[in-house]
Amino acid sequence: MDETTKNFIHDFIDEDIAEGGTYAGMRVHTRFPPEPNGYLHIGHAKAIYVDFGTAQKYGGICNLRMDDTNPSKEDVEYVDAIKEDIHWLGYDWDDRFFYASDYFEDMYNFAVELIKKGLAYVCELTPEQTKELRGSVGVPAQSPFRDRPIEESLDLFTRMRAGEFDNGKMTLRAKIDLSSGNFNMRDPVIYRINHAAHHRTGDKWCIYPMYDFAHPIEDAMEHITHSLCTLEFEDHRPLYDWVIENCSVPSRPRQIEFARLGINYTVMSKRKLRQLVEEGLVSGWDDPRMPTICGLRRRGYTPESIRTFCERIGVSKTASTVEYGFLEHCLREDLNERAARVMAVLEPVRLTITNYPEGKCETFTVENNPNRPEDGSRVIPFSKHLYIEAEDFLEDPVPKYKRMYPGNEVRLKGAYLVTCTGCSKDSSGNITEIFCEYDPDSFGGNPADGRKVKGATIHWVDAATALDAEVRLYDNLFSDADPDSGDKNFLDCLNPDSLRVLTGCKVEKSLGNADSARSFQFMRKGYFCADSRDCKAGRLVFNRSVALKDSFNK
Ligand code: ATP
Ligand code: MG
Repeated sequence: MDETTKNFIHDFIDEDIAEGGTYAGMRVHTRFPPEPNGYLHIGHAKAIYVDFGTAQKYGGICNLRMDDTNPSKEDVEYVDAIKEDIHWLGYDWDDRFFYASDYFEDMYNFAVELIKKGLAYVCELTPEQTKELRGSVGVPAQSPFRDRPIEESLDLFTRMRAGEFDNGKMTLRAKIDLSSGNFNMRDPVIYRINHAAHHRTGDKWCIYPMYDFAHPIEDAMEHITHSLCTLEFEDHRPLYDWVIENCSVPSRPRQIEFARLGINYTVMSKRKLRQLVEEGLVSGWDDPRMPTICGLRRRGYTPESIRTFCERIGVSKTASTVEYGFLEHCLREDLNERAARVMAVLEPVRLTITNYPEGKCETFTVENNPNRPEDGSRVIPFSKHLYIEAEDFLEDPVPKYKRMYPGNEVRLKGAYLVTCTGCSKDSSGNITEIFCEYDPDSFGGNPADGRKVKGATIHWVDAATALDAEVRLYDNLFSDADPDSGDKNFLDCLNPDSLRVLTGCKVEKSLGNADSARSFQFMRKGYFCADSRDCKAGRLVFNRSVALKDSFNK
């Protein structure tokens, strides 16, 4: 987020700074609080951008905190992956890495404080009864335990902690307002019994704090000034403020909500993404079709393109769905600047230059990236036998076809002008080889006589030195623009053609040691990167990150 970025969150923070008061002399301090129950996705990238970016803009700091208050679903695998993804996106928390579970003892003590103040009580309604008695608009909620003596609640809460009661037997509820128009304030449950081992605290606890109670305490313990979260927490803010108000926490954070990011043709909930992984519908969390950060990375997205995307979609209070094409647009723009241009033939057919001497090999020097002369140039070989794209030849051309057909002259990118003379076919009529003659006076692709060549420029690779490769082309994971809406089952909306694997592709020799962190433009075919999992010396595998054609209309 650069200093000129301005959104409503900044307006609020500016107000706070101007007012002094609570925030006087404090530097802006935010946090990113993922729940380690899955890998981060592009929606989290927006939250990371907002949390870390806002701190950066104000010369402040941002903590990373694992929200591990729910014992059952979490895993260390996810913690490590989350850290890796945030670093990759270009953000850092320095030494401020925390777990919500670090504060379990503090939370317990604050709960005791509330009980002692008469602001919390142990309720023995079952979850079903609590639900039945929650009332409705105009009808208050009820709990027969609301007015039990403080001493009794203190005793029961101690025994809840000691493990005397089964799951669901009792809860601790904040005593706020049973008739509040905001149901979150109708004596919300702040502790429940859960005899489950926690990935960090083990069996130490069998009662766990609810998010709405835990989160404000975590923020306050870390002296967060601005707790930025998504819009679904807006109705929970009165409770957030109530906890801060009534527990003797060491600071007073302010919660500000912004709209979640939604992108069409994909789903963004970790639960659903996990289902895709567990049911084997994708190859893993980092399947290049997944909207996860690791999936996007494997697909060939750059951190810069994702940050640019977050910057441009902006931060607002209004939920909106962004077009997938816009994410691709941001990537294409970035790769256009940085990707080396190379030649690769995805569906190859042999081209033989009949008047070129057998055994001769010439070399052409081409710039790696015309946008960046500093990226240098490389030498590519050329000889009598080449491969070209099958779709670049038609025996009987359709109107306006400018590529190769008998009698037509085309330019072989960077090399020579050639005129097609015909082709050979196998017994079932498939083209096996195309023939042409070259103009020896057109080295580099420019005719000595200056004649205009109307034919297209087509890409090629030298047959003798080309390497075999597998190329994976991706389309949207879902064929429905909004697989998550209404009562659709998102699994029914999967796009059966989201992955197309091409084998026997031919790529220029220089790609033999491509590493997955670099992007290439396969001329006329799109931007590609070596697959970080499957590409090895001797087995080349490339992912198409994005096609060249920009379908995004601004
Ligand atoms: P999910 O439903 O995908 O699991 P979550 O909100 O439960 O999402 P958390 O790990 O709790 O996931 O999220 C960490 C932070 O990221 C939260 O502050 C949350 O608001 C934010 N976040 C999650 N999804 C999005 C999104 N689509 N757009 C913006 N922020 C998001
Ligand atoms: Mg969550």
